[in-house]
Amino acid sequence: MIKVIEKLFKEGNLQKDEIISLLECEDENIIEKLFEYARIRAKETFGNEIYTRGLIEISNFCKNDCYYCGIRRGNKNVCRYRLSKEQIMECCQIGYDLDFRSFVLQGGEDPHFSDDVICDIVSEIRKKYPDCAITLSLGERSYESYKKLFDCGANRYLLRHETSDFCHYGKLHPKELSLENRIKCLENLKKIGYQVGTGIMVGSPYQTIENIADDIIFIKNFKPHMIGLGPFVPHKESIFRDFPHGSVKLTLKILAILRLMLPKALIPATTALGTVEENGREMGILAGANVLMPNLSPKDVRKNYLLYDNKISTGEEAAEGRKALGERMEKIGYILSSKRGDYRE
Ligand code: SAM
Repeated sequence: MIKVIEKLFKEGNLQKDEIISLLECEDENIIEKLFEYARIRAKETFGNEIYTRGLIEISNFCKNDCYYCGIRRGNKNVCRYRLSKEQIMECCQIGYDLDFRSFVLQGGEDPHFSDDVICDIVSEIRKKYPDCAITLSLGERSYESYKKLFDCGANRYLLRHETSDFCHYGKLHPKELSLENRIKCLENLKKIGYQVGTGIMVGSPYQTIENIADDIIFIKNFKPHMIGLGPFVPHKESIFRDFPHGSVKLTLKILAILRLMLPKALIPATTALGTVEENGREMGILAGANVLMPNLSPKDVRKNYLLYDNKISTGEEAAEGRKALGERMEKIGYILSSKRGDYRE
């Protein structure tokens, strides 16, 4: 197995059967070696700097009914909210004062946020904070819509493909959502010129190790600028409430493999990792991640953007906990960076 890891380190690629054997490997020494190589690769590009993004959850209204998601349309027990332009601008100001130079506007697919409404907000952020990156994560939209948002000043877009297997996709989503359209959206975003992020939930219901190997190959071939990976975490009001959460160790292994395949990619240690495991974000960094996304949403709405149970949003996970988060990073030999942290070839 060590030969497989060395090949991955040297060549940045593996055959599907080699990926599967690595994902199934339980030998702690081998896994530690994988993480060590991933850290070496990350440090070649990013040194010991960890980029930060301020996450603003702009709406928990959603027209979709993804079976895994706590804010899906069918969950009648969600207290729905959407932020006004003024509230979003206030979040950005708080974030800017806390040294964030990159904002992520994320939300359910809320029809209120038409192109005109989002363009107005993005243009205002672009005008007021010309030195900041603006990332959107608002789900599937048309080519024209993505283009308008890009032209107003958005630079990056996060859209996880969730799974590259058509059959698995169908088990996680109602029939009006399709993997074809998801992939089309990702291709359109790239064509327009966004830095694009994709990714998966690890341990989502019905996922197999083979599915994960295919996802890794999909991501390697798609060459995203950003990769979002987090364990699936059940939500008590979702159809998948009785499924167990995804494995942290498996998430870390996938993260490390992808770091070695795509050395320059921006990879966050996600909130879901920090939710399932107290030190999950540190473990993510030590497996090759280089980004953290603290929560900049207004405090009173954070409890309503519950994609899954027990989602963390206070303490060091909150933007206002930046100093404490910095101290946690220093303990493992890293520093929080205030750069906007663009993808560099
Ligand atoms: N609507 C946008 C979209 O679909 O990309 C952005 C919001 S969506 C809630 C953001 C991500 O949350 C999804 O891509 C999914 O991977 C993740 N997510 C949703 N439910 C989850 C769960 N139960 N456990 C872990 N992650 C979850």
